[in-house]
Amino acid sequence: MDQELFDRIYQSVVRREATYDGIYYTGVRTTRIVCRPTCKAKTPKAENVTFYPSLEMALQDGYRPCKRCKPESNGRLRPDAALAAQVDAVIEARFAGKLTLRAIAESLSVSPYHLQRVYKQVNGYSPAQKLEQTRLAHAKRLLAHSGDAVADVAAAVGYGSPSHFSAWFSRRTGRSPTEYRNACRGGDLM
Ligand SMILES: [Zn+2]
Repeated sequence: MDQELFDRIYQSVVRREATYDGIYYTGVRTTRIVCRPTCKAKTPKAENVTFYPSLEMALQDGYRPCKRCKPESNGRLRPDAALAAQVDAVIEARFAGKLTLRAIAESLSVSPYHLQRVYKQVNGYSPAQKLEQTRLAHAKRLLAHSGDAVADVAAAVGYGSPSHFSAWFSRRTGRSPTEYRNACRGGDLM
């Protein structure tokens, strides 16, 4: 784990914020006890802390679950949903640019693997599918309600190449962008 991520999680432990609850677990080397980042017990010194991305890993290293914050009890669901919601927020804010799973994961300080797994568990589809749905919905809105040229619509949803955009759009909707726009104007759609 790099120092910046460690510091960020450690700060959340100091402030007892739920940001990393269910995402990382706090192993305290001096007591051999593993806690949630939100545990109300005395904050351990940073030099005695190891953060684990799963409770199982901490248990395998010989840690016992804290009796106070009970890291083994169901708390995983809510934080997982919170992480998934954070992913949605990043996609919503940045779908117009080049956005990769790695970039989303970096902006949320989790591993791409962890993010993908948690997101799919919560939603049943992947971040990549969500990104595509978001771009498609936005493209449809622009085609239906703006006079923007197809090339501009393509750029607005993260496609540098209008022909790639048109091919993708046709594959998804069964109509080219222009056909879709004409159908909306003609009242066939919407
Ligand atoms: Zn605890």
